[in-house]
Amino acid sequence: MSPEVQDAWRAAAASSVSLEQLQAAASKRIAAATQTEAGLVTSGAFAGLTLGTAAILCGHDVGRMEQLPRTADFPQEFIVAREQRSGYDHAVRAAGATLVEVGFNELAGGTGVRRTEAWEFEAAIGPQTAGILYVQNADARPALEDVVEVARRHRIPVLVDAAAELPPRTNLHAIPGSGADLVVFSGGKALGGPQSTGILCGRRDLVMSAALQMLDMDDHPELWDPPADWIDRSRLVGIPRHGIGRGFKVAREEIAALLTALQRFTDGPYERRQIQEKTWLDQIAADLVAADVAVQWTEPATAEHSPTLEIAVNDLSSGQTAMQLCRALRDGSPPVYVGHSKLPQGILIINPVCLQADSISDLTRCLVDALAPTQ
Ligand SMILES: *Cc1c(COP(=O)(O)O)cnc(C)c1O
Repeated sequence: MSPEVQDAWRAAAASSVSLEQLQAAASKRIAAATQTEAGLVTSGAFAGLTLGTAAILCGHDVGRMEQLPRTADFPQEFIVAREQRSGYDHAVRAAGATLVEVGFNELAGGTGVRRTEAWEFEAAIGPQTAGILYVQNADARPALEDVVEVARRHRIPVLVDAAAELPPRTNLHAIPGSGADLVVFSGGKALGGPQSTGILCGRRDLVMSAALQMLDMDDHPELWDPPADWIDRSRLVGIPRHGIGRGFKVAREEIAALLTALQRFTDGPYERRQIQEKTWLDQIAADLVAADVAVQWTEPATAEHSPTLEIAVNDLSSGQTAMQLCRALRDGSPPVYVGHSKLPQGILIINPVCLQADSISDLTRCLVDALAPTQ
């Protein structure tokens, strides 16, 4: 976290505040940044998916909120493209939803050329359908707009996992701008907030339901008074007790730090950090090349992403595999965690996202020790 985000954390730790009031204020900031009606700081994108699912399953029905994750008496199916399934959809199942898969994964199977199509979502909608789960990605198919169009016609809410879709910054409002009902972003990735934070944003009534199912509800109904423009009590027959998301609570420190990170991400500091990262990578690349370790720059996905360095270890004289070198670097002192998504192709990735000015020389030394040809 940047020094400013750490300062926000410390200042919040030294004060006391009602969490309803703080979350309601956070909602306004998130709504402005995402151009949505309301927002909630969650304990990560995963928790945002569970809370978003709970909101779609229950709406303002406090009886349903009390029952989760039991969903036997009401619609509980979420439709998802088979090719978009991952370990993260456990978050949706955790609220009590069951997933109904549509489409195939023919590209991965080498059995066809087609991706999931919008009509397949429409064909799967039935009396038990509660919502649609969509995992956003530059290559996601069918396009989010096409899924939203089908969902709107059938009045089915769409919950979007956009955890890792920042940058580019325009995605903060472009993804909710698709017309999706709820969108989730991770706070601990490029946003630069605490690792334990995320954002849920979208429709006011659904964010209200999510908040009700996360907040500490141990208060007298006569006393409990969240800001009315955030939680409209007139829409509830009573106030619920602790909901399914009570274990996903966020602390005031996390909320203050996440909001500070969000502001720095949307304003100038994010760009300055990117330039800094490029300078550090330049320095690391020069030192590695001087030690006879060839590096390759990779183009960032967008102008707002940082470039990365790749090292093809098959060309090294050590004879060790990328997996073995990755293991050795983690076991080193200090431990070095390189990007591991291309290990099967024999490639180590240097991603600057977590670098600090005072860690560059240690990092370079560890890389040179592990990778440079032995004399
Ligand atoms: C990282 C990620 C998550 C989880 O985000 P957290 O903020 O760590 O909970 C969920 N979905 C996708 C697609 C992700 O990349």
